[in-house]
Amino acid sequence: KKSNNISQVANFIAAWDSFLLIGHEDPDGDCLGSIFSLGLLLKDLDKEVKIGLYKPLNDKYAFINNNLGLDYFIIDESTKINDNNAIIALDSSDSKRLGPAKDLLNNNKVLNIDHHIDNKHFGDLNYISPDSAATGQIIYEIADYMKWKINKDIAYYIAVAVLSDTGFLRYSNTDRSVLQLIDQMMAKGVNIYEINRDLYGRENPKTLKLIGRALNNLNILEDEKIAYLYLEKKDYEELDADYEDKEGIVNFARDIDNIEVGILFNEEDDRIKVSLRSNDYYPVNELAAEFGGGGHPNAAGCGINMDLKTAIEKVINKAIEINQDLRR
Ligand code: 5GP
Ligand code: MN
Ligand code: MN
Repeated sequence: KKSNNISQVANFIAAWDSFLLIGHEDPDGDCLGSIFSLGLLLKDLDKEVKIGLYKPLNDKYAFINNNLGLDYFIIDESTKINDNNAIIALDSSDSKRLGPAKDLLNNNKVLNIDHHIDNKHFGDLNYISPDSAATGQIIYEIADYMKWKINKDIAYYIAVAVLSDTGFLRYSNTDRSVLQLIDQMMAKGVNIYEINRDLYGRENPKTLKLIGRALNNLNILEDEKIAYLYLEKKDYEELDADYEDKEGIVNFARDIDNIEVGILFNEEDDRIKVSLRSNDYYPVNELAAEFGGGGHPNAAGCGINMDLKTAIEKVINKAIEINQDLRR
């Protein structure tokens, strides 16, 4: 599958006056930063912009919507928009990840902008750049190519996106182009210490208690270099926590000495959500793909319709099998 080129993206944007921006379920900082930076860029071109999310922003990401003239509405199963609109999907590898918005794709023109290597090219136009560390980096590239003015607010959202997906410049996707981008954003007035506080320095105490529960459920398969954690529905109920509060918890499993793969099993209402991370040689997107999911080689996930115990058993067995193949 071939990606469209940037001038086709330019033509698409020039051809429409009004855009609906959407991203993946449980949006992370890259998804939200991409949506809001592109939203501001399009508004500066006098385009009409709507942002659709599937749930109100939770406390962790409340800072994203800081009254810069962009608001969002909630897309659910009953949402209707007039047909023949322009939709831009951001940071979403698969239309299955678009929640209730996937039903809107058929009757509208869709531009799919993403950096997942396993992107399913579900758009009418697909601008896919697997070498980009974040979708926010692609937004920067597009803005730069089009010579759109990046003001401080736009720079802030682009930096939030890129800093989120690089683990604040610690992951293997942090290369010189990322550092150059951050330098450019700082030149526009962005303070990355503030972003550090926004992303990691405003934890809800409930989240810390949830981390405690997950760490209590730590299992290490030393010979297999796999560590996993799990959270049960009752943990969320007892702490009055949200599923979004689990973000980042899987990293504790990945960051153990001598561990290659970290896994978090999250028991949700209608599925087990599995988060997968690896350090080095293990492509966890291949493990996720075995269960209908996907992602990046070092960060992937899937949703499984089984009970928690069965899901753990199946995924761990598959994880071990793949690990043995890799080491053979
Ligand atoms: P997380 O574990 O933080 O939910 O997701 C990590 C990464 O895995 C995401 O950025 C996304 O690329 C991918 N991912 C997570 N869940 C799914 C899923 O259900 N399907 C697909 N295709 N990718 C997923
Ligand atoms: Mn994402
Ligand atoms: Mn991303």
